[in-house]
Amino acid sequence: MAPIIGVTPCRSLPDYLESVRRAGGDPRVVDPAQEKAAEVVGSIDGLLLTGGTDVDPTLYGDAPRAMLLEVNRERDDFEIAMVHAARTAKRPVFGICRGLQIVNVALGGTLIQDIPSEMPGSLEHSVPTPQNSIAHEIWVTKGSLLYSLMQEKLAEGDACNVNSRHHQSIKRVAAGFEVTATAPDGVIEAIECGRGSFCLGVQWHPENFWRTGEFRPLFEGFVEACQKR
Ligand code: MN
Repeated sequence: MAPIIGVTPCRSLPDYLESVRRAGGDPRVVDPAQEKAAEVVGSIDGLLLTGGTDVDPTLYGDAPRAMLLEVNRERDDFEIAMVHAARTAKRPVFGICRGLQIVNVALGGTLIQDIPSEMPGSLEHSVPTPQNSIAHEIWVTKGSLLYSLMQEKLAEGDACNVNSRHHQSIKRVAAGFEVTATAPDGVIEAIECGRGSFCLGVQWHPENFWRTGEFRPLFEGFVEACQKR
């Protein structure tokens, strides 16, 4: 039986669903309007948090700044509850883009609300189209879960190219997590929980590469952890 992967709804689901399927998982879109987090987690083997709108800064003790874009508090609250429920139930968690940010905020971290205005001189992290266009390099920490999953891609060193469609990023990392990839300008591009169950977040969009499969090992590692849980 393929493990059931709960996927949070977003505007561009098909690539997430296809990435999960190609890694051997059975994706199931969860509906925040109809389901309670603890019940949802009881029916899935792992949680995939998808991309989307900005996280409400009041959730990490910050006042909204001028460059903050659309927020969806209902989605924030549901996904934060899902992160807590998944961690309690020891379900693997994989957060992508906003998903990484939600994991970080749910577990006590903070965010940069807008990279261009808060980090002058930073690289361009908003390269919307095509979705798999390469925006910048990342440097991956040797010895991390992320490094082991991307071993093949990192064969010639610790750097690789990624796409980028975010204007927010992690400021203070949640306790118990470590940064395992950064962009050359210092923007955090991945975090993971060093111990215990699988909990990985990436700031780029590996789901947009399912046709070429270059980030499939990330989904395979996640699905495998869900199978074993
Ligand atoms: Mn980026």
